[in-house]
Amino acid sequence: MANNNIVGHAKTLFIAGLRDAHAMECQAQEMLERQISRLRHYPRVEDRLRTHLQETAEQIRRLDEALNVVGESRSALKDPAMPLAGNSTAPFQSLAGDAIVRNVLASYAFEHFEIASYESLLAMAEAAKQMSCIGFLRPSLHEERAMADWLAEHLREVTLRHLELSAENIEASR
Ligand code: MG
Ligand code: FE
Repeated sequence: MANNNIVGHAKTLFIAGLRDAHAMECQAQEMLERQISRLRHYPRVEDRLRTHLQETAEQIRRLDEALNVVGESRSALKDPAMPLAGNSTAPFQSLAGDAIVRNVLASYAFEHFEIASYESLLAMAEAAKQMSCIGFLRPSLHEERAMADWLAEHLREVTLRHLELSAENIEASR
């Protein structure tokens, strides 16, 4: 295959990847909104997820800009369902009885899916010679890594807080 064809092919795949990432971020936005509404006993988690919700809106905007750069207008864009990321919560359904712990585990998995997606998009942007898109991807990658790290660092605290709250409920019901 001539080099130009390879670059053209990479661009096609890159555009498909940008669309997938857009759908992923819309799903992330919905997940975050749902979780934030249930976190009144976990104010630190709520604050962090609110920050990430704002970051997510910005990530969607960056993907819109990248899609414009590669010649895909936002209006032509449809967000298909994202079964892979959606299913990432499934293994955790039976793991912990409590929604908060389960949600943190699912979020941790989802953030890593996002990290992998941006890593892959960055590789495709280079292969497709779309260097002007890199600035729309790298900041989002860093935000996803920071979010995943934060969740890893707070999993213990959230788990212990849940134990404390559920023990109080048992005491109160006696
Ligand atoms: Mg995101
Ligand atoms: Fe994220």
